[in-house]
Amino acid sequence: MNDSNLNSADGPDQPRPKTPRVVIVGGGFGGLAAAKALRKAPVQVILIDRTNHHVFQPLLYQVATSVLAPSQISSPIRGILGKQKNTMVIMGEVTGVDKEQRCVFVNSPDREHVPVPYDYLILATGVRPSYFGHNEFEKFAPGLKSLADAVAIRNKKRVRAGRS
Ligand SMILES: Cc1cc2nc3c(=O)[nH]c(=O)nc-3n(C[C@H](O)[C@H](O)[C@H](O)COP(=O)(O)OP(=O)(O)OC[C@H]3O[C@@H](n4cnc5c(N)ncnc54)[C@H](O)[C@@H]3O)c2cc1C
Repeated sequence: MNDSNLNSADGPDQPRPKTPRVVIVGGGFGGLAAAKALRKAPVQVILIDRTNHHVFQPLLYQVATSVLAPSQISSPIRGILGKQKNTMVIMGEVTGVDKEQRCVFVNSPDREHVPVPYDYLILATGVRPSYFGHNEFEKFAPGLKSLADAVAIRNKKRVRAGRS
């Protein structure tokens, strides 16, 4: 695998390699499945995720209830795709897509709005909780989609247990 950061993902003005580039946004089940399916394809794959780890979401309940630690249900994305020679993993937040220029814009801790060109784009960014127009329900039924959500619920339970 090409281990990289945003500095080596060339912008739209740079000369492009002849190999088609597939940009995948998201390192969840969807993004990882797409990257793995392309491991032998004659393409350059760039997977971008705002975190450096994949989360096994079905076990979030166990983290929220203190049965498992966050590290037991998450793995570094670069480790999972480590053997794929045609794949580069970038940690950054995709903030937009320019369909005309065929590029996504990425923020990283040290750079903002960096254009990363693509020939093919796969958006696998998951979902957000929906309260069907009743956002006031959120404080009673918080979302459970990320490690941060699970830890927040776990900590809330601990505070309540400490009070009783
Ligand atoms: C608590 C819970 C229990 C579940 N149990 C089951 C089960 O038992 N069986 C089952 O089949 N399914 C289950 N599911 C559903 C299953 O886990 C999800 O459908 C699946 O994880 C979704 O995968 P995904 O790749 O679409 O999205 P996600 O896994 O959410 O991945 C999206 C990725 O995109 C990244 N991302 C998002 N936006 C950006 C951005 N702008 N820039 C960069 N990166 C971004 C995120 O960091 C994340 O890594 C469960 C889900 C939950 C929450």
